[in-house]
Amino acid sequence: MIFGALAMIACGDKKEKETEENTTIGNTSTEETTQTRQGDSQDASDSDVVEITIEGNDQMRFNKDEIRVKAGQTVRLTLKHVGQMDKNAMGHNWVLLTQGTGIPEFGGAAVSAKDNDYIPEGTDKVIAHTKMIGGGESATIEFEVPEKGTYDFICSFPGHYSLMKGKFIVE
Ligand code: ZN
Repeated sequence: MIFGALAMIACGDKKEKETEENTTIGNTSTEETTQTRQGDSQDASDSDVVEITIEGNDQMRFNKDEIRVKAGQTVRLTLKHVGQMDKNAMGHNWVLLTQGTGIPEFGGAAVSAKDNDYIPEGTDKVIAHTKMIGGGESATIEFEVPEKGTYDFICSFPGHYSLMKGKFIVE
């Protein structure tokens, strides 16, 4: 590039000007390329945090029955209650259960834990959970993805787990 510029200058003013323009364009595109690369590397480190949004409604349904993540990631999960009913009538939470935990057994135990957002006190069956929310509310939690495998997630509000459940798959 420098050699070319010097050669052009020797040929006269007009060509020198063209060369300057060309050089400027060249520099600009080089900067853009560099910025893109930096952006990519930032994205790469951010990809360790995966954002997930799941909705619950007044019809007692989640809008997802499967969530896929990768081992080693951090999940930032937001549960949105897109209905209008009160949390005492149609409360929702998002509870990720340990492998081997029976949903009916856990759901049954949760019924008697109303004062603890329907999470049994001192349970070791829960990897992560949001608080219980009502219509129009949302709750966000962050947690480390467990080891590879398939896990169940549910809403532990009494009676909801039969419809409000899905698979959390770690690849
Ligand atoms: Zn629910």
